[in-house]
Amino acid sequence: MTTKAEKEQMRKFAELGCILCIEHLGKYGTPPEMHHIRRSGKRSNAPVIPLCPTHHRFPNTSIHGLGRRAFELKFGLTEEYLLERSLALIK
Ligand SMILES: [Zn+2]
Ligand SMILES: [Zn+2]
Repeated sequence: MTTKAEKEQMRKFAELGCILCIEHLGKYGTPPEMHHIRRSGKRSNAPVIPLCPTHHRFPNTSIHGLGRRAFELKFGLTEEYLLERSLALIK
């Protein structure tokens, strides 16, 4: 189930663009996919961040391609930081 607030957040994330393109390249509006941040608990409750296909699932440049640890090392930031920044930017 998706609440109205969640839908609104996804709409704003889609408009904002990939958060890593913003943080790493200073580029806004790259069309994103929604990446679920895995914490303990249900996937349906997982927070999401906007990531473009290059930064979401392509080999060697993305969180799924590299794995979270290598991804965080490569870009020098954490998934949780990207979540914080995403939320701050749509306020
Ligand atoms: Zn990106
Ligand atoms: Zn993902």
